[in-house]
Amino acid sequence: MTAQGFDGVERRGLMFVLSSPSGAGKTTLSRMLIDRMPGLKMSVSATTRPKRPGEVDGRDYFFVDKAKFETMAKQGELLEWATVFDNRYGTPRLPVETALSAGQDVLFDIDWQGTQQLREKARADVVSVFILPPSASDLEKRLHTRAQDSEEVIRGRMDRATHELSHWAEYDYIVVNHDVDAAFAEVQSILQAERLKRERRTGLTEFVRGLQRQLEK
Ligand code: 5GP
Repeated sequence: MTAQGFDGVERRGLMFVLSSPSGAGKTTLSRMLIDRMPGLKMSVSATTRPKRPGEVDGRDYFFVDKAKFETMAKQGELLEWATVFDNRYGTPRLPVETALSAGQDVLFDIDWQGTQQLREKARADVVSVFILPPSASDLEKRLHTRAQDSEEVIRGRMDRATHELSHWAEYDYIVVNHDVDAAFAEVQSILQAERLKRERRTGLTEFVRGLQRQLEK
């Protein structure tokens, strides 16, 4: 799986994972990355949870019923899957493989369970970032502002946030989202630096040989 780097040197595509407790701003950061970073494609997950107002099937998620999800999992169509808030969430395998082999990087908005599974399958290609909210009250405020969930669901998400937070140390990078533009700049820098990692740049040897040949002339 090789991608053409922006400087013309071929490299392997990477799997860029963002995780956080719900309400830490991960969805906003994901959208900003997709809009502003060329060569990055969003992985759209399948889920059994009901669609929220404003969500679009095929853009935000593939909304499927339990039976369909089970079939996808059984037939090996999911790269990873997990149960979150009593619903199933999973990453369809084919679009990820297609994007990576077409030379694109893939962005995942998945939880720690999915991140662990991706890491087991493709350690060298996974770069993971955990987004932290600046405070518990900030997290609660964002969950309320979103106004898409009932009080009971919000309470459940706050409870689950404590559990999610306990997995922070499994991630390669940690970003504290005090300010969305500053957090975006940090996440963007991580992606830019990871794209330049020597071991990912499969075309470097050939490129340097070319330089040497030119210098010898
Ligand atoms: P939400 O219901 O708020 O959209 O997502 C709930 C949680 O499920 C989030 O932490 C999100 O990152 C996670 N999630 C979304 N899609 C997937 C997926 O395909 N796999 C896994 N493991 N988690 C997912």
